[in-house]
Amino acid sequence: MTVSASVSAVTDFEPAVATVAFVDLAGFSALTDVYGDESAVRVLCCFEQLVHEASGGHAPPIKWIGDEAMFGFRDPATALQMLGHLLPACRSEPRIPLTRTGLHHGPVLRRANDLFGSTVNVAARIAARASPGQMLATRPVADAATEAGIDVEAMGKIKLRSIAVRVPLYSIALAPASDPAWIDPVCKMHAPLEAYRRAPTGPWFCSERCAHAYRLSPETYGAKASDLAAPR
Ligand SMILES: [Zn+2]
Repeated sequence: MTVSASVSAVTDFEPAVATVAFVDLAGFSALTDVYGDESAVRVLCCFEQLVHEASGGHAPPIKWIGDEAMFGFRDPATALQMLGHLLPACRSEPRIPLTRTGLHHGPVLRRANDLFGSTVNVAARIAARASPGQMLATRPVADAATEAGIDVEAMGKIKLRSIAVRVPLYSIALAPASDPAWIDPVCKMHAPLEAYRRAPTGPWFCSERCAHAYRLSPETYGAKASDLAAPR
């Protein structure tokens, strides 16, 4: 590429400010592995439908990267409004695993309908750092949430992959909290309410298939040596 060609390519990018959000399905790879591609696609279609319904009146996702939807909003309040529809809908849908959500607000470069830059990368890293069912965000989003009367918990400065400086993150409760004791360690489905009546003996599983996968290789699904040594 000549210098003049690269200069004209750069001018296609317009500076802007945006609230960038990533939402994905925790456990989607494990679910694909245990249940197969067709089941995974059914789960993905269900998630896509929930995103479509929640986006009504808002812009649709900028793009999908596998099971991850990327959104760009003009400000944190607009992001919270849309996610305030989406995340509770996902939480009460028993056919999909828990979601993980990450948000960051800052300068971006816009080209056509896509966004680029460090704000986008940080938002993606934050989503990857969230626990199943959790929404994590940076300060501007947390402030907007507090202003809107949403519960916000400071998580301290968190190390994000490929980012040198630790970032202060906040957990924002847009959807009912998930209970770690009732999250399938394999596919990250959360137990439906009726399952809460069962006495918990070890991890809860959505099916015998996930229980079987876990028995074959507990460490694959994050079991610690102390869990495995415990009497069953
Ligand atoms: Zn499962």
